[in-house]
Amino acid sequence: MDWQAEKQAVMQQARCIVVKVGSAVLTNEHGLDLHVIKNLVKQLAYLHSKDLNVVLVSSGAVAAGRAVLREESSINAVPGKQAASAIGQSRLMHTYDQLFDAHGIISAQILLTRDDLSNRQRFLNARNTFSQLLSWGVIPVINENDTVAVQELLKFGDNDTLGSLLLNLVEADLFINLTTVGGVLGANPEKTAGATIMPCVEDVHALDLDELCGGKTSVGTGGMYSKLMSARRASQLGVPTLILPGKAKDVLIRAFEGEEMGTWIRANVRGISRRKFWMAYNQNVYGEVTVDEGAARALRSGGKSLLPAGVIAVEGDFMAGDLVRVVTADGDAVGAGLSNYSARELQAIMGRKLSDLMETNEPYFEAIHCDNLLIGAVV
Ligand code: GLU
Repeated sequence: MDWQAEKQAVMQQARCIVVKVGSAVLTNEHGLDLHVIKNLVKQLAYLHSKDLNVVLVSSGAVAAGRAVLREESSINAVPGKQAASAIGQSRLMHTYDQLFDAHGIISAQILLTRDDLSNRQRFLNARNTFSQLLSWGVIPVINENDTVAVQELLKFGDNDTLGSLLLNLVEADLFINLTTVGGVLGANPEKTAGATIMPCVEDVHALDLDELCGGKTSVGTGGMYSKLMSARRASQLGVPTLILPGKAKDVLIRAFEGEEMGTWIRANVRGISRRKFWMAYNQNVYGEVTVDEGAARALRSGGKSLLPAGVIAVEGDFMAGDLVRVVTADGDAVGAGLSNYSARELQAIMGRKLSDLMETNEPYFEAIHCDNLLIGAVV
C-alpha cells in the first residue's frame, strides 16, 4: 500500500488518537491564545462526534503561569518554572473544561511523571483510568507534572516524548503532533535555503536527525528532533505520526477530510509488542553495553539474544534486571534491553564463549535475552 492510501485508511479507521499540542501553538505574548484553543477544542469535539477516542497532550502551563505573574523575575529558574506551571495548569485546564463543556463534552486532567509510567503497577493503574474515562466519552487532557518532575530521571523531558509513550498506554492508532511549523523540512533550513516540507517520511529510522535538525541540542525546547524521535517510537509500535501546523484554522478537520497538509510519517509494518515498548521507553537507563561488529550485525538481523561473547565493554553500575543501552564500538545505537547480569558480573564474563560459560555453570547463556531486547531503541 502506498503512503497516501495508508494515510487515508488510517484516518478513516482510527478508533483512538493522541493529539499533542505545544506551548508555542497555544500561547501568544499575552499568555493563552484563546482564539487558537477555542478552535482546537471545536476540532477535537468534531473528531469526538465521529466516535473517535481523543486523548489530548497539552503543554502551555508554564507559559500561562508566566503571563499571570508578568513582573516576577525569578521565573526562569527551575523552581520558578515549576511554580509558574502550578499557576498556569489550573488556568489551562479551566479553559479546556469550559470550552469542551460548551460542546457537551467532559474533559479530565491527568498529570504524569516518567516515574509514574516506569512502575508497571502504576502504568497499569493509569491504563485503567484512561480506559474508564474513554469509555465514558471523556477527553483526557494530559501534561507533565512539572511540580515534581525536575530531575532527568523523573522527567519525560518534553511532551512529545510523553505523547509517544501514551500511544502504548491507550493503544492509539494515530499520533498527531500540532506544531508551529507546517511539517518536517526535507533539509536543515540553517544549511539549505528554500528547503520544503516533505509530505511523507517513508522511513523515519533512516533519517539523519543530527543533520536534519541539528541533533539533540533542540531536545527540551521541543524542536523537530524530539518530534522525530517521538515519531520513531510511534513507528516501532506500528503507529503513524502526522505533524501538522497547529495554528492553521481547522487543521485537524481539514486533514481528516482528506486535505493534503503537514508530514505523514509511516509506521513500521510490524509493530513490536507493547510490553517490549514499555520496557525500553518507560524505564531509566542504568548503563551501557558495547558489542562487537559481529554481535551488532546478528542483533540487527532480528530475533537474536546478546551473548556474553559479543560484549566488549560494560559501563555504569547496573544490577541484574536493569535496562541498559546496547551500542557499537563507534557509539551507534543497537537497542536497549534488560541485562541478565549486573555490570560487575557481565564484566567478568564478557568475551567468553558459550561452552566456557557452561563449564563454570553461569546462570544465563544470554547477557540480554531477545524477549527483553528492543532493537532500534534509542534511549
Ligand atoms: N509541561 C510544560 C508546560 O505545560 C511543557 C513541556 C513541553 O512543552 O514539552 O508548560
